[in-house]
This record gives sequence, C-alpha cells and structure tokens, in this order.
Amino acid sequence: MEPLVFMCPRCASAVSARFYGPCDECRAVLRAVGGDARDVEIPAYEPKMNVTPNQVATRD
Ligand SMILES: [Zn+2]
Repeated sequence: MEPLVFMCPRCASAVSARFYGPCDECRAVLRAVGGDARDVEIPAYEPKMNVTPNQVATRD
C-alpha cells in the first residue's frame, strides 16, 4: 500500500503514513497527555447504551 503524504494536523510538518492523522511525534505526545482519559471514557459510555431509564422509571 502506498503511504499517504499530508501535513500533520497538529504541527503542520510533512507526514508520510498509511492513515491520515498526527505524525509519530504528535501521536506520542497525544498518547501521553490524553491516552489515559480516553481509556476511561470508552467503558464509562458503554453502560449507557444498555441502561434504559424510561422502562425503569415507568415501572411500579
Ligand atoms: Zn505532528
């Protein structure tokens, strides 16, 4: 597969990668800064899909 060549959306340096996104350097920074918060956010969101507050509320 030919790699894409684009500008890093974060630092605007030329990047050559298979998928559009931040360059390796920026990804390492983003992972260090927001990686933990993102891991917490995903499992916290899933239970909301399963919980049906309306049925519980209307039930006697
Ligand atoms: Zn970058």
